[in-house]
Amino acid sequence: MTAYQTKLQGMDGNVRVRMAPSPTGNLHIGTARTALFNWLFARSQGGTFVMRIEDTDKERSIKAYEENILQGLRGLGLDWDEGPDIGGAYGPYRQSERTDIYKQYLQKLLDEDKAYRCFCTKEELEAQEQEMISGGEAPKYRGICRNLQPEQIQNNIAKGKSFIIRVRMPAKKISFHDLIRGKITVDTGLLEDIAIAKSTAEPLYNFAVVVDDFAMNITHVIRGEDHVSNTPKQLIIQELLGFPSPQYAHLPLILGPDKSKLSKRHGTTSVDEYLHDGYLPEALVNFIALLGWHPSGDKELFTLDELALEFSLDRIQKSGAIFNMNKFNWLNNYYIRKKSMAELMPLAVNIYEQASLITAASLPDKAGTTDIYHNVDGTDAFSSEYIEKILAITRERLQKLSELPAATDFFFTMPTYNASLLLWRRMTKEQVALSLQKLHEVFSELDETVWTTQTISAALEPLYGADKGEILWPLRVALSGKQFSPGPFDIAAILGKDRVLKRIAKAQEFIQS
Ligand code: GLU
Repeated sequence: MTAYQTKLQGMDGNVRVRMAPSPTGNLHIGTARTALFNWLFARSQGGTFVMRIEDTDKERSIKAYEENILQGLRGLGLDWDEGPDIGGAYGPYRQSERTDIYKQYLQKLLDEDKAYRCFCTKEELEAQEQEMISGGEAPKYRGICRNLQPEQIQNNIAKGKSFIIRVRMPAKKISFHDLIRGKITVDTGLLEDIAIAKSTAEPLYNFAVVVDDFAMNITHVIRGEDHVSNTPKQLIIQELLGFPSPQYAHLPLILGPDKSKLSKRHGTTSVDEYLHDGYLPEALVNFIALLGWHPSGDKELFTLDELALEFSLDRIQKSGAIFNMNKFNWLNNYYIRKKSMAELMPLAVNIYEQASLITAASLPDKAGTTDIYHNVDGTDAFSSEYIEKILAITRERLQKLSELPAATDFFFTMPTYNASLLLWRRMTKEQVALSLQKLHEVFSELDETVWTTQTISAALEPLYGADKGEILWPLRVALSGKQFSPGPFDIAAILGKDRVLKRIAKAQEFIQS
C-alpha cells in the first residue's frame, strides 16, 4: 500500500470539487494552479475531481481552447474523475449542453417572482448609468422593470421586445466563511439586480455556476481570488433557489515581480509556451504548487504524489503569490538533472530538430549505421550516443532545455570564428597560429581508438608553456567558436578525431587570412 493509500483509509470520500475553465484562451498558469489545487484537495481527501467546461459565452468559447486546456492539464499529470471527455453520473459536463436544466430553474425563479424580465435596451441602460455617474452615484441598474405589470410584460413579449432576466436582489448583509480568507461579509444592498440570463436559453455565468455546483453536488469551490466578488451573488442565487451553499476557498492572486497582477507584461502566462520553451511538466507543477501554498517543513521539491500527501487548504496564504522566475529556473534545472538519459534524449532530439540542427531522416548511403541523425545539409551524421554525450556534459548547467541549441550547436555545425575571441590575453595572431599548428600535429598523431578526455588531456601536456591558456583557449574556441562552453578536452573527446582536425584547420585558415 502506498503512503497515499494509507492516508486515504478512514476518509469518507464525500468531497466533490470542480475545475470550471472557460475555453476562451489557451491554458493559463493561473488556471493550471487552480486545477492543481482542486486536484490536490480531492486527492488528499479521497474525494472526486470534476472537470466542467463553462462555455456559456458562445462568442468567446472555442473548442480548440477546450482541447488545449484539457490536454495541457493532462500533460501536467492531472486527471479527473468526471468530465466532458469521460462522462460521469452528473453530466453533461459542458454548460452549452445543459440549457434545459438552466431553463427549468430560470422558469422557477420567474414563476416565484424572484427574478424578472428586464426590457431595458442597451442604450437606455447606458443613459441611466450616465445619469447616475453625473449625479455622483455609483452606477447600477435602477430597477425600472422590477415592477412591470403582467399585462405590460405580455405586451412587450407580444411585440417581440427582447429581454434579459434579473434577480430581485434583497438588501441585507450576507456572510460566508472563506476557508482561506476567513469571514467575508457583503451588503447586498450595494449590488444591483444582477442579470442571470440573456434569455431563458442563455444563462449567464453566476447563474449557470450555481445551478451546476448544486446539480453536480459540489462540496467545495476552490477558485481564484478574482471570483471573491461573485460569491455573494452566487450565495443569493442559491438562497433564491433553495440550494445549500458549498464551502468556498479563494486562492491568492499570482503577482509579477513588481507585485502587480501577473499578466503578459511580465512574460508569457501560457503553460504551452513554457513547455515549448523547455520547462519540464514536473518543474511547472512543483513551481505552481508553491504559488501561495507552503508545506509544513523546508522541503521545496515535490512530485505530484508527494504534494497530494502534504497538501492542505490551511497552508494557503491570503496574500498574493509572487511568480519568481529564478525559482522556476532553479526547479527546472533540478528536474533536468534528475531525468534519466532515456527520458531526456527524446526531449533534446525534439529541440535540436526544431532548431534545424539535426534531422532524423534515414541515410540511404549508410545502411546499418548507428548514425541515425544528420545535420540539415547532410554533411555530417551523429549517433544517439553522440547526442547523449553532449547532454551528459551540458545538462548540469541548463535552466531550460531550449538553451541547448545555442549552447551546443557547434557539435552539429562547423563553428564560425571571430579573431579577437581566438586570441588569449596578449597573444598575437602568429602565436595563436602556432598553437593551432601544434595542436593539429598532436591530434593528427593521436590514436582514434583511444580518443577520450583523459588521453587527449595527457597528449596535450607536452605543449604547455608557462601559460596553459595559450594552448587551451585557442583550442576551445577553435572547436566551439564560443566564449563560453564546456572544457576543450570534453568537447574534443565527443567531436572525435575527424571533426577536431577539421575545426582546427578551419581556425588556422581563419587566423592566417
Ligand atoms: N469559468 C470561470 C473562469 O474560468 C470559473 C468559475 C468558477 O470557478 O466558479 O474563470
